[in-house]
Amino acid sequence: VTETPTQPEVNIGLVGHVDHGKTTLVQALSGSWTDQHSEEMKRGISIRLGYADATFRQCPEEEAPDCYTVEETCGEHDTETEVVRTVSFVDAPGHETLMATMLSGAALMDGAVLVISATEDVPQAQTEEHLMALDIIGIDNIVIAQNKVDLVDRERARDNYRQIQEFVEGTVAEDAPIVPVSAGQEVNLDLLIDAIEREIPTRERPADEDARMYVARSFDINRPGTTWENLSGGVVGGSLVAGKMERGDEIQLRPGREVEHGGKTSWESIETDIRSLQAGGKQVDEVTPGGLLGVGTGLDPSLTKGDALAGQVAGEPGTLPPTRESFEMDVDLLDRVVGGDEEIEEISTGEPLMLTVGTATTVGAVTSAREDECEVNLKRPVCAEAGAKIAINRRVGARWRLIGVGTLNE
Ligand code: GDP
Ligand code: MG
Repeated sequence: VTETPTQPEVNIGLVGHVDHGKTTLVQALSGSWTDQHSEEMKRGISIRLGYADATFRQCPEEEAPDCYTVEETCGEHDTETEVVRTVSFVDAPGHETLMATMLSGAALMDGAVLVISATEDVPQAQTEEHLMALDIIGIDNIVIAQNKVDLVDRERARDNYRQIQEFVEGTVAEDAPIVPVSAGQEVNLDLLIDAIEREIPTRERPADEDARMYVARSFDINRPGTTWENLSGGVVGGSLVAGKMERGDEIQLRPGREVEHGGKTSWESIETDIRSLQAGGKQVDEVTPGGLLGVGTGLDPSLTKGDALAGQVAGEPGTLPPTRESFEMDVDLLDRVVGGDEEIEEISTGEPLMLTVGTATTVGAVTSAREDECEVNLKRPVCAEAGAKIAINRRVGARWRLIGVGTLNE
């Protein structure tokens, strides 16, 4: 794993159908497999949402787009390249049953690269489903990588390119640049970086915003048998989406944990302090939004073990949105089932729904349903602001299918 010179400043999702080359592309751009990391902390987080940092560089002697590279020296000139920007790729799994994971990852993305293989007809099932998810979550900074062009002749590449154009017409990716690449042969990566630089800029962030971290993973980094004095506190991993965090800061996590008082259970937020911070693969004193963040806390590691805190929200005590065990939402159903022609039936009272809110995924029972509004009772509460977007999934046969988007009401 190459050292990155700076903390990544933007999160870019890699989405698209399974086997179309997402992981290979991340590898070509970052020189590391998203599935393999040296440190336990990074490895733990990357299993479910593979993060990999990449530093884009440029040859000072050349103009855009030819100047862009991820190499430390310019090929022809043998001079050093200059750092343009460090980005973090979130490599969402393409397998259809992992749609919920893709949606929780989408909450952490500032933009996305949609990878489409030139060797297959467009769209394949998850190509369509992932594009719809980007639409729902409101991600419109998109670059399309038409991958595996080394495997097709010029004519098939051109046909496939037209299919992509037709497919994105009228969608959130309508104006997205389509860049023919070969991740495997590392062809046209300069053009792809150029498109990412133009389409997925680093967001301007007000300096005084409240810190807000979406927790995607949590774990216990201690080896079995570690004695009490040597025990490290619980670790949470995820992304900061606003504000900043410093070593020593007090933080609060919501919903927190379930506690019992006189036979009644309720959820109580957790407070702790930040003992260590890891960003861009390094220990740091302070973090700002962008990339994967690991926070070492003073919590008992049994609280963070096995993703127990995944889906929670962290920030300065007293600034977090409320914990909700039920809520009302405005509902906007899709016109039809993704990848099929069947119409989507209205939501009915009593039916179970799988809801993704931020990085939290929970099952909710519908307690009241009207045409474009419904109330749900959650199995596990979520911490969310009014106005939050909710991906709504319904059980169809053996799997959950995305059927629409909700907006949380006050
Ligand atoms: P993912 O499921 O989207 O992450 O796809 P992978 O990155 O795992 O790639 C699937 C397969 O396609 C692997 O065997 C890769 O080696 C191969 N592959 C990916 N990109 C290219 C490419 O540009 N050209 C060729 N020839 N093969 C590729
Ligand atoms: Mg992959």
